[in-house]
Amino acid sequence: MKVLLNNASLFEILRPFNDLGFVPTMGGIHKGHLSLINKSNKFCKKTIVSIFVNPKQFNNKKDLKSYPQNIKNDLKILRKSKKIDFVYLPKFNDIYKDKNKSKIKLHKKDKILCAKFRKGHFEGVLDVMDKLTKIVRPQKIFMGEKDLQQLYLVKKLLEKKYKTKVIACKTIRDKNKVALSSRNLLLNKSNLNVAAKIYKKLINIKKNINKNKNISDFLNFHKNKLINIYKIKIDYLELRNKNNLKISSRKKNSRLFIAYYLNNVRLIDNV
Ligand code: AMP
Repeated sequence: MKVLLNNASLFEILRPFNDLGFVPTMGGIHKGHLSLINKSNKFCKKTIVSIFVNPKQFNNKKDLKSYPQNIKNDLKILRKSKKIDFVYLPKFNDIYKDKNKSKIKLHKKDKILCAKFRKGHFEGVLDVMDKLTKIVRPQKIFMGEKDLQQLYLVKKLLEKKYKTKVIACKTIRDKNKVALSSRNLLLNKSNLNVAAKIYKKLINIKKNINKNKNISDFLNFHKNKLINIYKIKIDYLELRNKNNLKISSRKKNSRLFIAYYLNNVRLIDNV
């Protein structure tokens, strides 16, 4: 596993490879990231992982400051997996040396779910993914369905602009079915117990969706119930088509999306 610390060494070393799988991350490596790496390893001859905590996608300074970062530990886990050829650890200037302001804007119809609650977040994500793709030039990029809205927007942008394919990977969960996330490191045991209970409730709510009901009233009722039982703040609880993210009224091809706060940590999931 070769560690690439700047763009010059990356360009030099990656030049000969034309079957490259790319797993972009912000570190805090967990089994969710490793599942993406495994998939890349299966589909591509070489796998490159990047670790870059992109300040431009944080709409909240406190959130950026508390974001779990431990490069030493991440490298240890990645090395141990024996599945990675290259790790790219860019500095801010490797990504943003071109000081021109990004022209990436979200379409009005995409200002839904997290985009409504985190102003500028996806513009930051799309900008960094555009820049990383231009630098790394991978054949395939592997991304997680846990962040389905991110996957949807990135796929739409990159597949139009580059030859790169964006491949969706299943959400990996802990033994209590809580979706793995680097942010879970900021939760205590009791928070994680609540997250596990909320997952169970989501599965039940989805099971009880019935196209004859008024879905919006039904979900509003359950949203308020979750708020009251667990004393949490919920940004949204919505049923949407998993392929185009349009509001849906039936279970088929749909996901129930939630964003909520535990211990001031914002968690998202879809089931
Ligand atoms: P992050 O480091 O949180 O920016 O995530 C990097 C990539 O890992 C993104 O494509 C995420 O969707 C993906 N990812 C994060 N958590 C999970 C998970 N629990 N299961 C599958 N993929 C995940």
